[in-house]
Amino acid sequence: MDARSPSQLRRREMAAVTSGAGRCRLSKVGAGRRPPPARVRVAVRLRPFVDGTAGADDTPCVRGLDSCSLEIANWRNHQETLKYQFDAFYGERSSQQDIYAGSVQPILRHLLEGQNASVLAYGPTGAGKTHTMLGSPEQPGVIPRALMDLLQLTREEGAEGRPWALSVTMSYLEIYQEKVLDLLDPASGDLVIREDCRGNILIPGLTHKPITSFADFERHFLPASRNRTVGATRLNQRSSRSHAVLLVKVDQRERLAPFRQREGKLYLIDLAGSEDNRRTGNKGLRLKESGAINTSLFVLGKVVDALHQGLPRVPYRDSKLTRLLQDSLGGSAHSILIANIGPERCFYQDTLSALNFAARSKEVINRPFTNESLQLLLAPVKLSQKELGPSEAKKARGPEEEKTGNPESPAPPASASQKFSPLQKLSSMDPAVLQRLLSLDRLLGSQGTQGTPLLSTPRRERMVLMKIVEEKDLEIERLKMEQKELEAQVLAQKAVDSTEGENCSPPMLLPLARRRVTVAKPLQKAVVMPLQLIQEQAASPNPDIHILKKNRKRKREDLDASEPQEKAEDCWELQLSSGLLAHGRQKILQLLNEGSARDLRSLQRIGEKKAQLIVGCRELHGPFSQVEDLERVKVMSGRQLASFLKANILGLAAAGQLGGPS
Ligand code: ADP
Ligand code: MG
Repeated sequence: MDARSPSQLRRREMAAVTSGAGRCRLSKVGAGRRPPPARVRVAVRLRPFVDGTAGADDTPCVRGLDSCSLEIANWRNHQETLKYQFDAFYGERSSQQDIYAGSVQPILRHLLEGQNASVLAYGPTGAGKTHTMLGSPEQPGVIPRALMDLLQLTREEGAEGRPWALSVTMSYLEIYQEKVLDLLDPASGDLVIREDCRGNILIPGLTHKPITSFADFERHFLPASRNRTVGATRLNQRSSRSHAVLLVKVDQRERLAPFRQREGKLYLIDLAGSEDNRRTGNKGLRLKESGAINTSLFVLGKVVDALHQGLPRVPYRDSKLTRLLQDSLGGSAHSILIANIGPERCFYQDTLSALNFAARSKEVINRPFTNESLQLLLAPVKLSQKELGPSEAKKARGPEEEKTGNPESPAPPASASQKFSPLQKLSSMDPAVLQRLLSLDRLLGSQGTQGTPLLSTPRRERMVLMKIVEEKDLEIERLKMEQKELEAQVLAQKAVDSTEGENCSPPMLLPLARRRVTVAKPLQKAVVMPLQLIQEQAASPNPDIHILKKNRKRKREDLDASEPQEKAEDCWELQLSSGLLAHGRQKILQLLNEGSARDLRSLQRIGEKKAQLIVGCRELHGPFSQVEDLERVKVMSGRQLASFLKANILGLAAAGQLGGPS
């Protein structure tokens, strides 16, 4: 039964993954990587004979072999037994604590990692499902124990000073005759099950009660259970025909940037009795229920078979239960199925089919992943009322949320015409774009860039940043204006100088004398001058003024004349004193030999790649003896070197870092 070909296994895995609810989740962590598989764990619990169930001969038809396996009589051959192996087998004497600690407790921690988990009790009516899940005040079952531990865990993990704030909510529903009924609000009628754009299964309108203590849980759970019990007495056996689903959601919000959010869902399910009612000869309502035995249970079997066989289509949508469990079977949850069986011979056929179902479920593969998202709204970070204060909390609520009032409402689809803006709601962006932005944001964060990662910056901080940018822009504008004024003053000063020394000035400078005369401070630094003054400057006897020549026109002339371009490139050197040039080269050389890759990137024409190349060459060949070595070690070509030198020396001169002539 277990010998399967690798291709069959692969197909089954594929089906498990592609049909899983989380297949297009944008927010899953490591979206590029395939989450590791986690097989559905299966445990079998054999209950003891209970009052009234033991027959005349009370020898059991099934018995345990060890902590993982059991055997059951083979009805085809009385000489033989059928052996089954599971993840765990709990015999008649096992306690509630054994089952809880052995099979359920270990998966609870996944909820705090933002992963989903589910526990399903399966088996024929009277086999002990409700006893296992709920138990009694003396022998509490999985539900009270799990809630107790989970609430304790969340209290510890979400305590003040810990990185995450945690909150827990509970919902309790029943699926009866393909109707989803809210046990916390029985008046709400049949609810629909939906899937949002990220593959999350939702029940819009389902009550979610926040709980912080076990007393809170009991306060909601006990009356809701009574709702179910009232139905059971009235509808005769209703409880064994319906599925009771307790949903516990653990929401986590990171207290500091990048304000990640995680959500883990725990389903605790007491399934309807799995006995075949057609065989038991039910009539009336029971017969109607068993038209397909119980549609949900029947489809559950088909879903498990489809996943087990690796079929391309898994019929999750054929029933309410399987739709709800879409991410628990072949999906994203850590799942444990507890198959409950009784020892009585009269239950033999139902026990056998329950064991076969359990054996098939064992082959189902899930791929749990962390359901984590960054704060998707560039709108305010959602902080709790307590953390924010009442007025702030109202402001912090997004407009969408205020409108729908339902945190489970699926996000509206992105409008194609929506323009990208820094204030855009990220959740409505193209997922591919969003993924890139988020990874860029993470990259910036990890490289310790000076800038604040915008995507995870809360709105208030962002507004401040944008204001600063605006102010800086104004400042730049103001400085540009000042620079223009200074240039004008220089021109005027030059005009005065030229009128004074008319004898040695070329006639072309004469018109400038007509300009407004302003006394400029003596220039110590290099300045950018208009072309018509450069030739005059070349003849100027004033050695303190160093000219940075714009030779665009000259270049064009050279090109027209088909002269080698290098000639034009070299012109700038002629315009700087040799002392200044040497000083510039020395500065650049020093940076090349001592600067880090980051320092090197501050040089003109040096990008990240070149900076790393330079550092690499330095480590390999030792320090550069001259700037021209860059060409020798093939970091740049001769032409690139020329423009590199030009740009940097002129830049240094303009920034006044070369000082006066040496
Ligand atoms: P189900 O929910 O599968 O229909 P129940 O949980 O109601 O079955 O169990 C039927 C009866 O068997 C109940 O009286 C329950 O107390 C008893 N029972 C079930 N399992 C055990 C067990 N492991 N130990 C003792 N009594 C049990
Ligand atoms: Mg029951």
